[in-house]
Amino acid sequence: MKKIVVATHNQGKVGEIEAMLRNFAAEVTSLAAYENIPEAVEDGQTFQENAILKARHYALYTSEVCLADDSGLEVDVLKGAPGVYSARYAGVEATDEENNQKLLAELKGVPEKKRTARFRCVLAVVDGDKVLYTANGTIEGVILEGPKGQGGFGYDPLFFVPSLGKTLAEVTMAEKNSISHRGQALRALSDMLAEESK
Ligand code: IMP
Repeated sequence: MKKIVVATHNQGKVGEIEAMLRNFAAEVTSLAAYENIPEAVEDGQTFQENAILKARHYALYTSEVCLADDSGLEVDVLKGAPGVYSARYAGVEATDEENNQKLLAELKGVPEKKRTARFRCVLAVVDGDKVLYTANGTIEGVILEGPKGQGGFGYDPLFFVPSLGKTLAEVTMAEKNSISHRGQALRALSDMLAEESK
């Protein structure tokens, strides 16, 4: 691959994604290198649709191969909600705190064994209209009845990982990356690119 643009607004992740892609592309840049590109409208019904439509949108505006991601939380008893609405569960401009409060309200009275959930992440690499790769990652957990831990972002303080005995807000960033949905999707994509370049 000659050049790839990382089209994610997850600033915390741009560096890590770029570092991985540098093993496979001669040049790796981000949207910060471009001016006046309108935001993609995330109106897909699934994480995969959103990742692909974002990658296509930015591929159109940059004329380069683009990688985009989409991620969110699926709670079983809420039939997969908040899902693709994770970032705006409590409203368009909602803060993480407001989204967490809304989730706790929706789960009020639901017993622990029915509070199962997962984070899901999809990465898509697109050239023009053509989807070159998609990669997925998930991590299973349980939604607590109140927040625990100061790290991470989003729903992390409510997301308890049984195998760790901690929430994702109680682990280091390196620990989180080694097990998270995003970390897994990134490693899956890296494996695909490595296989391709053999
Ligand atoms: P995206 O930026 O469209 O992918 O939306 C992601 C939303 O899902 C975030 O705003 C969070 O609410 C939630 N989310 C995704 N990944 C994580 C995570 O690793 N921890 C906590 N919340 C997450």
